[in-house]
Amino acid sequence: MSPKQLEEMYDAVIVGAGAAGLSAALGLLRSPEITRMKEDGVEPRILVISKLQPLRSHTGSAEGGIAASLGNIESDDWHWHYYDTVKGGDWLVDQDAAQLLAQYAPETVINLERQGVAFSRTDDGHIAQRRFGGHTRDFGGEPVRRAAYAADRIGHQILHTLWQQCVAEGVEFAEEWYVTDLVLSRDGSGAAGVVAFDTHAGAVHAVHARNVLLATGGAGRLFHTTSNSWDLTGDGMALALAAGLQLEDIEFVQFHPTGLAHTGILLSEAARAEGGVLRNADGEAFMERYAPGHADLAARDVVSRSIMAEIDAGRGVADPKDPDGPRDCVWLDMTGIDPDHMRAVLPQVVETIEKYANIDPSRDLVPIKPTAHYTMGGIPVTVDGEAYRWEDSGRRTVVDGLFAAGECSCVSVHGANRLGGNSLLDACLFGTRAGRSMAGRIAGNPVGDPTAADDPDRTAADEALAVAGDDAARARREDLDALLAGPDDDASDGAAANPYGLMALLGSTMERALAVRCSETTIAEAEERLDDVIGPAAAALRAHDKTAAFNQEVTAIWEVRHLVALADAMLAASAGRRESRGSLQRLDHPERDDERFLAHSMTRLAPADGPAAAELLWQPVHIVDIPPRAREY
Ligand SMILES: Cc1cc2nc3c(=O)[nH]c(=O)nc-3n(C[C@H](O)[C@H](O)[C@H](O)COP(=O)(O)OP(=O)(O)OC[C@H]3O[C@@H](n4cnc5c(N)ncnc54)[C@H](O)[C@@H]3O)c2cc1C
Repeated sequence: MSPKQLEEMYDAVIVGAGAAGLSAALGLLRSPEITRMKEDGVEPRILVISKLQPLRSHTGSAEGGIAASLGNIESDDWHWHYYDTVKGGDWLVDQDAAQLLAQYAPETVINLERQGVAFSRTDDGHIAQRRFGGHTRDFGGEPVRRAAYAADRIGHQILHTLWQQCVAEGVEFAEEWYVTDLVLSRDGSGAAGVVAFDTHAGAVHAVHARNVLLATGGAGRLFHTTSNSWDLTGDGMALALAAGLQLEDIEFVQFHPTGLAHTGILLSEAARAEGGVLRNADGEAFMERYAPGHADLAARDVVSRSIMAEIDAGRGVADPKDPDGPRDCVWLDMTGIDPDHMRAVLPQVVETIEKYANIDPSRDLVPIKPTAHYTMGGIPVTVDGEAYRWEDSGRRTVVDGLFAAGECSCVSVHGANRLGGNSLLDACLFGTRAGRSMAGRIAGNPVGDPTAADDPDRTAADEALAVAGDDAARARREDLDALLAGPDDDASDGAAANPYGLMALLGSTMERALAVRCSETTIAEAEERLDDVIGPAAAALRAHDKTAAFNQEVTAIWEVRHLVALADAMLAASAGRRESRGSLQRLDHPERDDERFLAHSMTRLAPADGPAAAELLWQPVHIVDIPPRAREY
């Protein structure tokens, strides 16, 4: 649905309707400040914009669980969760943020349950919990059951519940509207709104707002093999880059160990938690050799690297669908799991294997390979969701009224590698916190406050924001006209002449450059390809149909341009970090180097018409009480 009409000014615009965006909307509307404001008869003016119908957001695909030390099955303690998160992130985690994550995880899960999430249950009625990689008891001891789950469909439960709650609160959605620009005030110090393209009407709108929250999800589509849905094109991160802001730790991309061969579709870690075992061509359960004790449930970066090491050593297997093809997979052996139990707790995993590989996991070995899954880095935010710039002078400057949450943001709880179950938690908890911070700003000065309507200072400030938004919308309309005018003479031929072919080219380039491991050479090759071929081809793309309404090629062009900008930043940050840490394995710098790189990379694209050169600054990591040590599983 589209809003009947746009307000002249919004209190807040939220971009994205996954777990983070919806949690922010609820956090805002249910905060004590807004409740009081409504009791006084002033309604907040907020709008949630989503390029998808909200229930199609990728949150709905999350399978395995949400982490919290509920201790429902075995004793657990949030301090252990906190320690595991810091260690899992290879010490590149801001420990103050990770403390909040672990401490408020139980409350977050219980709140979800109260709102309607139908968790799986233990026999005595408690929320059921399963093991997940890297989650342990006693600061790195035995694995612990910490992931609260709903069969293997936790994301579906959470997304539907949050959306229903938003509908109940009367939240207004602009669905299938694509945000093309983040608008900042003239001096760049604060948010002014967004520019959005209504894909149904084919119209570009300036949406003016005093507060903007970006919750646009991840960027798995940078890679050819990915578990991410087609919409995860890193839009919010690219919007921030285009507005001159930085991205934090953008070189860290998690490759999930078990993507179904040649589709990349995720087979949840729950498959291993329930007893699945990885085997090489010799039938050896090799993870015991790489991570004694934790074996198949070591952290994801460790497992993915071990799989690649087996493949490199010639112990990989070919996808049975292509028996003469490359031996670039290993087996996931689920035959030891009781078939009835498997169908009860892993229905989606079983269905995916049956449908897409045409095999029966209770009898056959399943071919898998690592798949791009999660972007640890993103728009830098404080623990209250405020976006900030890291200055040369060594301090954070908050961008007034700009917020981010969920996978597109980096509050820095995942560091160099995220633990399973921690991202739904991040999105729900820090999404809610961001919503509450916006509420504090709104309640002091709501747009709908009748007593302030004639305040000349306020009117002038709003007008300045509106002028910035209108200018940006005008420029975007010109861009749209150019896209619809049809291909230029200098347009590329072949695959690069349309956004889908170009996305595939970019995906294979990035995969060769960065998937699981990289080096100066692989990064430089990709940078060259981006500068010489992909970047210019993206700039030259034009739509093949002149109609603006329902023209999906138009949004695909903007998406691929976003991916190209993001690729630029990711390659620059990967080149700058000359060490191996978490998900970033530099073959030419195999050791972790705390002396030089116990720091967050802060990458900004230089404003330029040609291929942008990036600027890299380094922000110290917040260490509270867990000093860095060797990371062993
Ligand atoms: C297959 C899979 C399984 C997973 N399993 C788990 C798990 O078991 N446990 C766990 O903790 N995590 C899991 N994750 C990760 C987790 O699901 C995500 O990190 C999290 O759901 C992200 O939520 P989000 O709200 O940030 O983004 P999303 O849910 O991706 O939502 C993004 C929203 O932004 C909107 N949007 C994007 N760009 C624009 C634009 N330009 N204009 C307008 N709207 C825009 C989209 O329409 C969408 O509504 C999994 C991920 C995948 C891919």
